[in-house]
Amino acid sequence: MKIAVIGGGWAGTAAAVELTAAGAETTLFEAGRVLGGRARGVEIDGRQLDNGQHILLGAYRDTLALMRRVGADPDELFDRRPLQVIDNTGFRLALPRLPAPLNVAWGLLSARSVGIGEKLRTALWMDGIKRQGFRLAQDMTVAQWLDQAGQTGALRRHLWEPLCLAALNTPADRASAQLYANVLRDSLGSSRREDTDLLLPRVDLGQLLPEPAGHWLLSHGAQIRLSTRVGRMTEVENGLDIDGEIFSAAIIATAPQHIGALWPAAATNFAYEPIATVYRNFEPKMKSAFPLTNHLGGHCQWVVDRGQGVLACVLSGHGAWEELDDAALAAGLDAELGLPNPTGWHKVIREKRATFSAIPGLHRPDFKTSNPRLLLAGDSTWADYPATLEGAVRSGLRAARHIANG
Ligand SMILES: Cc1cc2nc3c(=O)[nH]c(=O)nc-3n(C[C@H](O)[C@H](O)[C@H](O)COP(=O)(O)OP(=O)(O)OC[C@H]3O[C@@H](n4cnc5c(N)ncnc54)[C@H](O)[C@@H]3O)c2cc1C
Repeated sequence: MKIAVIGGGWAGTAAAVELTAAGAETTLFEAGRVLGGRARGVEIDGRQLDNGQHILLGAYRDTLALMRRVGADPDELFDRRPLQVIDNTGFRLALPRLPAPLNVAWGLLSARSVGIGEKLRTALWMDGIKRQGFRLAQDMTVAQWLDQAGQTGALRRHLWEPLCLAALNTPADRASAQLYANVLRDSLGSSRREDTDLLLPRVDLGQLLPEPAGHWLLSHGAQIRLSTRVGRMTEVENGLDIDGEIFSAAIIATAPQHIGALWPAAATNFAYEPIATVYRNFEPKMKSAFPLTNHLGGHCQWVVDRGQGVLACVLSGHGAWEELDDAALAAGLDAELGLPNPTGWHKVIREKRATFSAIPGLHRPDFKTSNPRLLLAGDSTWADYPATLEGAVRSGLRAARHIANG
């Protein structure tokens, strides 16, 4: 079987590894100069950074298993910590290392700046959602869902809304409650304590998966064609003609906005949300008490301490920040966050189409197309999740297994 995988993001990389392991002759096409797509390492002025700060969860089981398979050890490459949500107003919710669901119950009941009545109401609400299998009778916005549940107090502002924006990259007043419930099901609602853990990368994104997977693929006989944008794909007898080369099957694993150029019948029409990551440099000895802090009331939502005096400030979704140039944005964040004496450089990386808008009732592309030899992968095709690395990886594995199993 000669199989083409088009797109070397985390979905295409996962698909290529799975196909190669199943014995297929695999060619991975990637338009960019490196593998990784929207989650790749970038070198800026001699520094290894990411195209955007990413955070993973212990619940990313298929991603972690894929890393291990290609020789990348998650235990070494992540700083794994029990979930804490700490913000600039003094709110703090920290999960202890107790078995689930006691960890979540304890974390909730001991949260700072929240009254006991609200905590108990929230515990009951969460229990009710769990008993309904995290299924909503009808999708709606997260804001409507929280309103219906009477979640109108401190936990909404300090926990549910920030987590929604972080997980769906779409604010609560536009985000899908069902997709949010799915994320809660597999994290706070999971029966495995470690699923709620935060995994903060110790290395750049390239070293987590794309680079080790690239080495693994080459050493297992796959071809990787970097800087190669596939331009044309047509059906031929017993296969697909991809820029003049015949393959017995193919997986399109591009971002959703690029599917239609290759296979118009599967074109998508999503709206998108941006993310900016503003890197700021300080004295190398500067260290945050906890490496992830939430910020309310400004442009920036999350600040990640990447070590060595580098902070990554994350701005999710549309906002007034989009109008500011890089220097104004960096200076604005210094003031907003009260950052002490930044030294040297800043770098702003804007991803205009970071993720599709995870709105209620969004129609997601099926992974099967009208041609049984052509499948789709990519975060947009994993309908259970918003745009995430785990959704991308699962979608790639699913498409590859479908081909490998004939
Ligand atoms: C700044 C930012 C922060 C994020 N934060 C998080 C986070 O914290 N946690 C999380 O889980 N997710 C996060 N995400 C989302 C996550 O990065 C994506 O869901 C995931 O990377 C999508 O992977 P993919 O393989 O589906 O698509 P992509 O990464 O878009 O890969 C598609 C690839 O296809 C290539 N391509 C396109 N057209 C062609 C063609 N014609 N021929 C050849 N190649 C082609 C592209 O160059 C690209 O490399 C974030 C995204 C961004 C941008």
